[in-house]
Amino acid sequence: MPPLITHRTLLEPRSVADALRLMRDEGPLVPMAGCTDLYVSLNFGTLKETRFLNLWRLSALKTIELRGGVLSIGALATHTDLIQSPLVRRRVPMLAAAAREVGGVQIQNRGTIGGNVANASPAGDTLPVLAAADATVILGSAAGTRRVPFTEFYTGYRQTVRRPDELVVGFEIPAIRGRQYFRKVGTRAAQAISKVVVAAVVGDRPRIALGSVAPTVIRATRTEAALAAGASIEDAQRTLLAEIAPIDDIRSTAEYRRRVAANLLALLWRGASPRVE
Ligand SMILES: Cc1cc2nc3c(=O)[nH]c(=O)nc-3n(C[C@H](O)[C@H](O)[C@H](O)COP(=O)(O)OP(=O)(O)OC[C@H]3O[C@@H](n4cnc5c(N)ncnc54)[C@H](O)[C@@H]3O)c2cc1C
Repeated sequence: MPPLITHRTLLEPRSVADALRLMRDEGPLVPMAGCTDLYVSLNFGTLKETRFLNLWRLSALKTIELRGGVLSIGALATHTDLIQSPLVRRRVPMLAAAAREVGGVQIQNRGTIGGNVANASPAGDTLPVLAAADATVILGSAAGTRRVPFTEFYTGYRQTVRRPDELVVGFEIPAIRGRQYFRKVGTRAAQAISKVVVAAVVGDRPRIALGSVAPTVIRATRTEAALAAGASIEDAQRTLLAEIAPIDDIRSTAEYRRRVAANLLALLWRGASPRVE
């Protein structure tokens, strides 16, 4: 059993400003939120870094509120916070639906939306929702704040534009017009990582995002354009299959993922997949 705690340092900031200063002056530091992803690699002995910054007590990053018609969600909001938030349930029900399918209750109580996004797994369940919602990622550093469209946050497999001195401090989600869908296909309902995960907004401007079918979460922009132009669902499915690049891995085969993705597109477009509300 590898030693989990020895030779490791945990810094405890008292405020967000303090945390950002420590990221600048004491780095490189590994931000630690709910620790549900980090603990797995700590436990397996694959986490080489030894210096951590504990964000868990920064309650200023847990707020969920409306600011000028835009839903603002702090990075430290847990999946349980998202499920229980009347604002999230009313404005972005697909996000509450995704949070309900993350792990089990224990993971939902500790796991945060910021950790889900920063962890950068292509199978993260909130990622397609944020992509379909045209969300913005708010990055904070001691030098200031910058806003990155969610669809530009990932640059490759488990790679993001976040600099080592930056924290994800929150997300902004504009008002969404149209019916919202979320569907995760995994081995079972709880404690299962997605084989394919889809979030969509069906309305004047279709928005379709998928996880686990490419190195990062993707927006199927060519499929969206085809559907907006009145393509048949069969043609749209063919376009989708040309847009995704799933792989064979321990959880599924590429062929299964391709079939499921095409079937989910047809289900949500025909309204047969239950919309979330
Ligand atoms: C049993 C089990 C089941 C799971 N099931 C699911 C599932 O069904 N769906 C799913 O999507 N995920 C699942 N996960 C993964 C995990 O629970 C989620 O990704 C969770 O949201 C991670 O949040 P966290 O706060 O625990 O992140 P942490 O473990 O604290 O951090 C994860 C990564 O993000 C970084 N990070 C965290 N917060 C910030 C921040 N604010 N700024 C910058 N970097 C940051 C950390 O440095 C680390 O690299 C599961 C995990 C376990 C152990």
